Amino acid sequence: MVDKTQATKTISLDKYGIKNAKVNYQLSSEELHQETLSKGQGTEANTGALAINTGEFTGRSPKDRFIVKDDVTRDKVWWGNINIPFPTDMFDSLYEKVTNYLSEKEIYVRDSYACADENYRLNIRVITEMPWSNMFAYNMFLRPNEEELKSFDPEWLVVNAPGFKADPEVDGTRQHNFAILNFTKKIALIGGTGYTGEIKKGIFSALNFILPVYKNTMPMHCSANVGEDGETAIFFGLSGTGKTTLSADPERKLIGDDEHGWTAENTIFNFEGGCYAKVINLTEEQEPDIFNAIKPGAILENVVMDENGEVDFTDTSVTQNTRVSYPIYHIKNIQKPSIGKNPKNIFFLTADAFGVLPPISKLTPGQAAYHFISGYTAKVAGTEDGINEPTPNFSACFGAPFMPLHPTEYAEMLSDKMKASGVNVWLVNTGWTGGPYGVGNRMKLKFTRAMIAAALNGELQNVEFEKHPIFNLMMPKTCPNVPSEILNPKETWKNKKAYDIQAKELANSFKENFAKFESYANDEILSGAPLA
Ligand code: ATP
Ligand code: MN
Repeated sequence: MVDKTQATKTISLDKYGIKNAKVNYQLSSEELHQETLSKGQGTEANTGALAINTGEFTGRSPKDRFIVKDDVTRDKVWWGNINIPFPTDMFDSLYEKVTNYLSEKEIYVRDSYACADENYRLNIRVITEMPWSNMFAYNMFLRPNEEELKSFDPEWLVVNAPGFKADPEVDGTRQHNFAILNFTKKIALIGGTGYTGEIKKGIFSALNFILPVYKNTMPMHCSANVGEDGETAIFFGLSGTGKTTLSADPERKLIGDDEHGWTAENTIFNFEGGCYAKVINLTEEQEPDIFNAIKPGAILENVVMDENGEVDFTDTSVTQNTRVSYPIYHIKNIQKPSIGKNPKNIFFLTADAFGVLPPISKLTPGQAAYHFISGYTAKVAGTEDGINEPTPNFSACFGAPFMPLHPTEYAEMLSDKMKASGVNVWLVNTGWTGGPYGVGNRMKLKFTRAMIAAALNGELQNVEFEKHPIFNLMMPKTCPNVPSEILNPKETWKNKKAYDIQAKELANSFKENFAKFESYANDEILSGAPLA
């Protein structure tokens, strides 16, 4: 039984411009779950997890993500169509509109923090219109204890109002939804969208500025775990490449599935307190850790269930981007606190839908820098479009939409750290084998897991390697628990000529994309480029 009156402490939001709201402060996960059900905003799956729909938006909206351009950001941010400038006065008037909108309403306030290493801790107050958005913040951010709450001093503010719609003509937005970061006022202002990912990626973007600029720490869009031997591994990759999937490994302790910092003191720490996993085609057999995390406390997003609350994970009728969020303690094998040593192995994950890149290859320092700046994966067109052609997608640092600084600033930090720590860097293609999308198949998860395990165990240290003729990557000729035939991608294609053509095309896409970074790159980095 949860006693709501006991948990509810009243706090005034007048200083934020929110007046006479009915404030639900720091409700427990169970209370927020119940609130969501009683307001008719969600249902319960048969596992006890809450299921909600995020509404019009079921994914982030990068074109509606702005940064206030002022004295703090003007000369530091890499402005352009990723970091879109927003004027200070426009922010102030939009903020006032949003807080007026939230006034008189029943709203949810939660104090939480980011960064598991207390030297980097960022206190966050999250104000949400919806109870489930607040529960998401409970799942994803770190949870202060009673003692810490007593003296809690919020530094950043997240204001989340899905029901508020901006008027682009007046408010200076592109359309009715927006996510705006203000580094001077320390506010992430989100409106017009209920997609919960905007909340976590808003704070991620803020940390991607704060940590390198003020704290000499490299922020990374990666997952991390640690082995029995205490060795840390990190996994970079764009959406859908396998960060969350591959970091949940029963043999290793999970540090985090998406956002980490690498400090000058040679440690890695998680920014978050939970995971946000894709659940499309999820099965207990293939991904037992994630499957079993879907219990009371978890929030399923945009999934389809039958009348018994049984989720059909193959149903993509609402979106392909079906998700579940849960606190990290829903995973059995976790590192406490979420901190590890310098990584010994770094994996760059890519889902190459052209079937060109080898399933695993070892990178030289130059190749590591080149591939990090390139940030390649492929996008597979939604089947409903009737388009079967994948497209190459390059996103610098494997996370350009969240990186306020110029990509080379992060790349230089990574290069320095890789050199100082002597880390192994591997490129892992979790995408297609035997041909491109439509012809070949996605790499079997068990093979990708076996390749990663072999790299981590040192089993790839003494095997023979061969060089990829175009990408110049070192491919192992054998790997325990993986059929040797699949290690060289060309061997998996029926039509070898077609492979060469496809490989050259992809190499050209890499080169075209890299042109804009060439003037920043030294010879070592340029030596990491494909040959042809
Ligand atoms: P995001 O940044 O959006 O959270 P992510 O990198 O964490 O993305 P995952 O959530 O791990 O990506 O998604 C990978 C998806 O691909 C999962 O649905 C997984 O089941 C599927 N998959 C299929 N084959 C493989 C493979 N060989 N390796 C990794 N994932 C695979
Ligand atoms: Mn993920």
